Amino acid sequence: MSESFDHASPHAGILETTQRFLQRSHRLYIDGRWVDASSGATRPVLDPATGQQISVMAEGNVQDVDAAVRAARKAFDGGEWRRLSTNERSRIVWKIGELIDVHAQELAELEVLDEGAPFAVVKDFWVRLAADHFRYYAGWPNKLNGDTIPVNMPGEWHAYTVREPVGVVGQIIPWNVPFLMAAWKLAPALAAGCTVVLKPAEDTPLTALRLAELCREAGVPDGVVNVITGGGDAGAALVAHPDIDKIAFTGSTETGKAIVRAAAQNLKRVSLELGGKSPVFVFPDADLANVIPGVAQAVLLNAGQACTAGSRLYIHEDVYDRVIDGVAQYASSLKLGHGLDPASQLGPLISARQFSRVSRMLQTGLDEGAQLVVGGQQHGDRGYFMQPTLLTGVRPGMSVYRDEIFGPVIAAMKISGENLDALAREANNTTYGLGASIWTNDVKRAHQLAARIRAGVIWINAHHSIDAAFPFGGFKQSGWGREMGKPGIELYTELKSVAINLG
Ligand code: NAD
Repeated sequence: MSESFDHASPHAGILETTQRFLQRSHRLYIDGRWVDASSGATRPVLDPATGQQISVMAEGNVQDVDAAVRAARKAFDGGEWRRLSTNERSRIVWKIGELIDVHAQELAELEVLDEGAPFAVVKDFWVRLAADHFRYYAGWPNKLNGDTIPVNMPGEWHAYTVREPVGVVGQIIPWNVPFLMAAWKLAPALAAGCTVVLKPAEDTPLTALRLAELCREAGVPDGVVNVITGGGDAGAALVAHPDIDKIAFTGSTETGKAIVRAAAQNLKRVSLELGGKSPVFVFPDADLANVIPGVAQAVLLNAGQACTAGSRLYIHEDVYDRVIDGVAQYASSLKLGHGLDPASQLGPLISARQFSRVSRMLQTGLDEGAQLVVGGQQHGDRGYFMQPTLLTGVRPGMSVYRDEIFGPVIAAMKISGENLDALAREANNTTYGLGASIWTNDVKRAHQLAARIRAGVIWINAHHSIDAAFPFGGFKQSGWGREMGKPGIELYTELKSVAINLG
């Protein structure tokens, strides 16, 4: 731990603007105004590294959701946003990215205090990537063109397609990496000309609220972006609302299924980014100096609270002992601590509830016969820190093999031979299909195995690398649709076909 960091008061060195933002009693953002929740209810916002309250948020309910949807509907139907020239819409979306850069320090401080991850990761990767999302999608409004269609209907025709914004979108996001999640959602929706009601997770509301202010400063008209903080009830109210045209959700597979059931009421469009149990393969020819930190971070990034966590680690028998020793040493060497401490390399779990859930799942794994190599205990006596944990002897059928843990738990298995069909069967032995990584210098093997794995994102000699232009999403129960890249903006459009009878 760093000498200069004040552990007794971790907020001591933060910007004044961050201090002031925390001191506010946060409200809901509806139609360009900050308003109290109609019930007057509030909820404390906690720092997961200390368990201490750092701010207050409003607890939105069904009436507040209704007010926000009405504002978004009025802004959509009024047409000011979607009929803005594409250049002007681009300029505003780009400006949001610029404002994120200008306020990167403040946004990163808020995110660290709210979510717990180490400051350098938050500022240099997640906040920067969030700004990149706005800049990337700022390039799309004047490229959302349709086609002319050479139809064979009798007579003479001019037929074409056009992409229109899908309408009023309800966006619901989780507590892991929340600022980037908000950017993933807002940037393409705004670029497409939609209006939005965003509901951040109840554990991490702060940066979404700050982002609403930056949207306003960038010139987004009133009613186009609305933010309702609150719990699952507020999310459910958004999904149930008949005036929402589409729900874009990131969160657990269980909640995703509930959303699909509720959305069936009026068949609103739904896109889903859900959980995962991503496999990682290490072959003997891989460069072990990169493999060891790479496969450890595939799980330990954000204390394992990442949807693409590479939580099933398959290591070839020829390098198994070396990789296990290396990962164990690497994991034990990581410094756990408050994300604002420059010495910290790993943060806490998000909440006491998540800490209990991960501990319970770990214990079940041990009861089912997995062996603990390192970790497995709470770290320190403040906040919700769990030691990085390595399990070996994991087998299909065990819960740690099957279920998403969403904590710093690596489940390792030994593989032998080169039968790629058999390895792919292992990889695909899951209800999920989000990510996978393959660590090898054999190009042929890498491509052949990538072709056989049923997952939306496959990395070779890397894990978790994402880019605004690189489509991302899941096969099977990991989701519906793709975010980022061109598919990411098409999710916020409807395709209209027009045929003109020329006689
Ligand atoms: P969660 O499903 O519990 O909550 C996500 C959001 O949904 C929160 O805002 C919550 O308030 C809201 N919600 C809860 N119940 C709801 C309901 N019935 N109707 C509508 N909204 C409701 O998920 P979480 O625990 O916050 O997040 C972790 C999960 O998110 C993990 O499973 C992780 O894999 C997944 N995730 C996926 C991706 C991806 O891109 N695929 C990215 C990040 C996280």
